[in-house]
Order: sequence, then C-alpha cells, then structure tokens
Amino acid sequence: MAKYIFVMGGVLSSLGKGIATASIGLLLKSMGYKVVLQKFDPYLNVDPGTMSPFQHGEVFVTNDGAETDLDLGHYERFVDQDCSRESSCSAGQVYESVLTNERKGIYLGNTVQVIPHVTDEIKRRITAQAEGNDFVISEIGGTVGDIEGLPFLEAIRQLHLDLGNENTLNILLTYVPYIKSAGELKTKPSQHSAYKLREIGIQPDILLCRSEKQFGDEIYSKISLFTNVAKECVINAIDVNCVYEIPMNYNKANLPEIICRHFKMETRPIDLSHWQEFLDNRKHSEDSVKIAVCGKYIRHQDAYKSIVEALYHAAAKLKKKIIITWVDSERVFDRNRLDKELSGIDGILIPGGFGIHGIDSKIAIAQYARTRNIPLLGICLGMQVMAIEFARNVCKIDLAHSTEFDENSAQPVIRLMEGLSNQKQRGKTMRLGAYTCKLSEGSLAHRTYGSLKISERHRHRYEFNNDYRQIMIDAGLCLSGVSESGDMVEILEYPTNDFYLGVQFHPEFKSRPHRPHPLFVNLLRAAIKA
Ligand code: GLN
Repeated sequence: MAKYIFVMGGVLSSLGKGIATASIGLLLKSMGYKVVLQKFDPYLNVDPGTMSPFQHGEVFVTNDGAETDLDLGHYERFVDQDCSRESSCSAGQVYESVLTNERKGIYLGNTVQVIPHVTDEIKRRITAQAEGNDFVISEIGGTVGDIEGLPFLEAIRQLHLDLGNENTLNILLTYVPYIKSAGELKTKPSQHSAYKLREIGIQPDILLCRSEKQFGDEIYSKISLFTNVAKECVINAIDVNCVYEIPMNYNKANLPEIICRHFKMETRPIDLSHWQEFLDNRKHSEDSVKIAVCGKYIRHQDAYKSIVEALYHAAAKLKKKIIITWVDSERVFDRNRLDKELSGIDGILIPGGFGIHGIDSKIAIAQYARTRNIPLLGICLGMQVMAIEFARNVCKIDLAHSTEFDENSAQPVIRLMEGLSNQKQRGKTMRLGAYTCKLSEGSLAHRTYGSLKISERHRHRYEFNNDYRQIMIDAGLCLSGVSESGDMVEILEYPTNDFYLGVQFHPEFKSRPHRPHPLFVNLLRAAIKA
C-alpha cells in the first residue's frame, strides 16, 4: 500500500514548500522507491493558465497539456519524472467537480457541503495517485491558517483517521526568524503554526524549519517541546545559496531515514551521485557567460523560472557561471540604447509571452542580434518575433505582424492557429502539451538535438503562417522543424549566423540539472565562442 506524505507551510508564504516537496521526492526516489508528487492550490481559479505571471509566476506545462503551478517545474527538475494533469489541482477544480456532480444528481438530493463532499473529492484526488507508487507526496499551497486552505487540511486530517498513523506523515515547513536587535532566533511563529495545525486536528510529525542562522541545541529542544514534535524530527532547513543543495542538506539531517522509520520501511542506501556531479560542476565553474533575457515580466522573475533554471543547468554542464541581464521590453529602444543595454553580453534569449506590450523592443532586439551575429534563442513568442523581424527587414514585407497584435494585419506572418477562433474565452483555447517535431537533416536544430524527431511542449494560440514559408526560405531563413504532419512550422533558423534559432515550443520545461536541454547548452556554447 502506498504511504502518504503531506507537506504544509506555516508562518508565511515563499518559504520554498515546492522545493522542499521536490527534495523529499528526489531523496525517496534515489532510494529506489516509486514516488508521485502533486500540488494542491487553494485558489478558486480552475487552473493557473489564465493567471497573470506578475501575480503567479510562470505557468508550467506538462506533457499531457495541463497548465499548472510553477512548483511542478521544481518537481520535474528534482525528481526527474514527468508530472501529469493529476499532479496539479486547485480548489476551483475541486469545486467544479463537486458542482458538476451536483448538477448530474449524483448526490441523490443530499445537501452538498464542504464536509463531506468537497473533502471527499480532495481525498479521492490524493488516493487516486496511489496505484503503482510507494509514496504519494502532496503539497498543500498557501499557509496554515488561510481560510481557503481549510478543506484541504480537513481532508488530510480525515485521511490520517482513515488510513492510520503508519500510512500518513505530516510535514510542516516553518520559519524561525533571526531578530537582529535581540541577537536571537525566535521560535514563536513556528510554535503558533503548529498550534494552528493541531487546532484543525493535525499533529505535525516532522518540522522543516527555515532559518538564516544555524540552530543551537536549545532551539531544537524548545521547538520540539512546544510543537510536540520529537527533537530528532525537527530539522534546521538553513538558507542556501543554491536550491539544488537542499536535498543534500535534508539527507545530512537524516530526513530520508526519519521518513522511512515513521512508515516502518527499509532505509535503503541513497544514490545522489548525479546530483552531486551537477553541484560540483556548478562549484567549479570558471569564467562567466552573460545572457540578456528580454521580456515584459522581468520585474517578477518567477515568470521565467524554468528559463532561468535551464540556463543554470546548461552553464553548469559547461562549467561556466551564468550572468543573466534582464532587459525590460516595455522600454523603447533605439539603436544607441540597445548598444548600451546589450554591451558586453554574449547571447540573447527572447522568452515566451502574451500581448502587444514590449513587442517593438523585442523586434528591435531580434534585428540587433541577427545583424550582429549575436547568438539568439527565441522561445514561442520569441520565435514569432524573429519571424516578424525577418519578414519586415529581410523580405521587405513591411506590414508583417502577428494577428495577436494587429487583428486586421494585411501581412499576417503569424496568425491564429486553424480551428482556434474563440479568442474571447481565455481558458483552454491553446495548443498545449507535447507534440512531435521533425527536424531537417544537417540543420542547426538537428545538430543540436542529435536526432531527427523530437518531442517538446507547447503553449500558444498563434503560429507561423504557411503562406509566407517560401518567401522567407528564398530570403535565407531555414524552417528546420515542422510538426509531424508538416503543416506547422516549429523551428526557424538563420544559417548565415552562428546561432540564430527560434522555437515555437518551450524547451525550458524539459531541462534537468544533470541533463540540461541541448538548445540552452548550444546557445551558451555559441555565446562563449562569440
Ligand atoms: N502569444 C503567443 C501565442 O499565443 C505566444 C505564446 C507564448 O509565448 N507562450 O501564440
């Protein structure tokens, strides 16, 4: 029978519950156990697909096309296994299911209530993950004490009752602040989070206590006494420079053994050699490579989480330090300003995005990179911008645009995908998830991937307009990747340059610390050479 681990958070948000959950998944998987991870988000949006990246950070896309919370990106990067639609669930989805059931008459005229109907639906979604797995690890978004989170915590309380202590484990991530004026670490916020959880009927079994300073013995004792958690199960999750060190620290603190002991399971030897190799590469990196990332969400860098991580992974492989310069595409650039802004950079990345804001600057940057042979990787919107720029400035298609920005464009080089006419309804109107892409023999894309058939994840409404294929090819653009049927352009490149490549998909979602994505590695290789 699968064992259930619940990861909850106290005191405040942004303590890194997602990373903690991902680290636990990695450790248990590295012992040879089968794990599955899932994230519950207490907000009422049905999925994060329609939420602003300014508020919610990146929308992570799974192979099966679910638009999910960015924590799933941590899960995939750490545990190195693909998440699915079932790995992410919002309160909105839970309520949607319950209300649909109610409309279908499934509750047979009973009064539909949070307990048991909503909580049963949450429990169903947790236990549905059990088959074929040793551990189901469920992270509950938000902070203990939030009104929205209550049904989820209530479901966890009930699962403990249903399945018993030997089959469920509660982990609480808390914060132990260092108060400078008192020169002390303060345990009270953690105590209160544990009280709050106990009030709901949940006794934490393990505490992961974030702090900027190392605990002394008396802090462990105090936290243990007041939270009713065994002293050896109070773990000091000290701040780290790099999140990838966290699994190592948990391992040193015996977390895998504590978990196995709780479940009366065998503590198997852990193999983290691949992880250590990545950390060593990072540590021993020399020189730096400077990449400009040009987008409109740069004030909220979580919006580009997977891109940043993919750049870090690639840099570690090449044993280089990566320096990211954020270029705000909302600013207007003339050539002089671009010279200034981009001086000293080795390569450029234009990430995905939505809406017209910043488009002119992105087009100017694409032109700047193309005409100066600066390595450029364009992702999704970035690729579309490269197509518009090439059409305007090389093919002299002066009015070239995307119908996303000019609905009545006379020269729509990028246009809405066939079959997607309902632009008004925002959710679920995109091409989402993994699709196969065929590469042209000998192209930069082929050389980069080392394969003629690849699969990458998509999230877009617009695509390259086939009416413009020939004229662009005649002008020197290589359309080196197309969909399985050949109907859709997936990759464009400009062979005159060393590395000038745009992809309609999101390669960043598939990068792993020890298996960086080849497009990012080759962007950096070209940037280092440039
Ligand atoms: N806005 C563009 C589209 O919908 C690009 C999307 C993206 O970059 N993810 O096609």
